Amino acid sequence: MNMPLFGTNGIRGIANEEITPEFAVKIAKAIGSYFNGNIAVAMDTRISSEMLKNSVIAGLISVGCNVYDANIAPTPALQYYLKNSDLDAGVIITASHNPPKYNGIKVVDRKGEELQREVEEEIENIFYAGNFKKTSWNEIGSVYTADIIDFYIEGVLKNAEAEETKLKVVIDCGNGAGCLVMPYLIASVADVLTLNSEPRGLPARNYEPVKDNLNYLIRTVKAVNADLGIAYDGDADRAIFITENGEYVSGDYSLAIIAGHKLEKKKGNIVVPVSTSKCVEEYVKMKGGSILYTKVGARNVAKKMKEVNAIFGGEENGGLIFPEHQYCRDAGMASIYIIRMLAERAGKLSDIIKNLPKYYTVKEKIECVEKEKVMEKIKKDIGGKADFTDGIRINSENGFVLIRPSGTEPIIRVYVERKNEEEAKRIAEEYKKMIKDLSK
Ligand code: MG
Repeated sequence: MNMPLFGTNGIRGIANEEITPEFAVKIAKAIGSYFNGNIAVAMDTRISSEMLKNSVIAGLISVGCNVYDANIAPTPALQYYLKNSDLDAGVIITASHNPPKYNGIKVVDRKGEELQREVEEEIENIFYAGNFKKTSWNEIGSVYTADIIDFYIEGVLKNAEAEETKLKVVIDCGNGAGCLVMPYLIASVADVLTLNSEPRGLPARNYEPVKDNLNYLIRTVKAVNADLGIAYDGDADRAIFITENGEYVSGDYSLAIIAGHKLEKKKGNIVVPVSTSKCVEEYVKMKGGSILYTKVGARNVAKKMKEVNAIFGGEENGGLIFPEHQYCRDAGMASIYIIRMLAERAGKLSDIIKNLPKYYTVKEKIECVEKEKVMEKIKKDIGGKADFTDGIRINSENGFVLIRPSGTEPIIRVYVERKNEEEAKRIAEEYKKMIKDLSK
């Protein structure tokens, strides 16, 4: 069997070592042979993105596809463009939140949605067999320019029902693809102060919007007495919020408060992966909604949302999906939605967060070579009393335990969540010991 090229986040690797121009041409020929039509291409701001974008374009036109080049753009901007055009697919050169030396190739379908695994497998088969579409010299495709930024900004403002506010917002684009959109998008509804908002191949902060990378943003929010801070990842599909006091708001919390706000207007289903904090479930139920769990990964969440006609969904990493806009993570929508919500309530973000149910989470990684065998043993021990949507999730009154093998490393991850911190720590230790013993 061929080694899969696409992981949960598309194709990723170190630029010029694993993701070389030669590789990019070849995978683009496979993508082009499969879709055989008009393809939009965008990239993030990494040093290697220009090189890989040109290689991807060469590969696509060499098998007869026409390319619509959007240049630097957030992933959701390209997805929204696809949803509203009659192009056949999109390719984005990005490694999202990974460090600058990485890059990647992500493919979306004609609606701008993430490919299902079956389609990725077909593209991989074409790649490995070298079974590219035969194209003679006079059948090579053309390259056009696609101006998508303003179209995206207008779409978000309309679909998020944006209104002008008096809020002061500090944004940190991390020198990524968000630089082209977010300063202008947010300026249409609030006073905006921008940090790291010029596109740079070597960013001033790491692309991942975790707390440790956002000290500058947190300090600035407090220093200028802003109402809100927002940070984006490298391709601006995820947004993380900072309260007016400089508190980092976990992705679970932003998921919960937006879900709660939506449920106040209309009851319905909220979809999240099994790795989501129980605070979301508890809050959704408090607000009269239903929660549905999926396997980890945004495409699984989006797929389920469509099936059950959900009103909202998302992941704990700040990837939020608004079906009224599109079925993919969209940081522009998340930003405008939170700003609108704060203005509507004339309240502070810290006060809204205070009202959320509190849980403590302990995350452990346990080295384990034969992870599948160990998972089977745990399953047997536990019997039928767990949820097997993705890994093993054991629910209880006051929290849950999730045991999942890593897709890429010899590691089993354990998440323990409890209302009581000491209890969470103690249970995490018990599971850690159990997995170590079973691994012997
Ligand atoms: Mg991303």
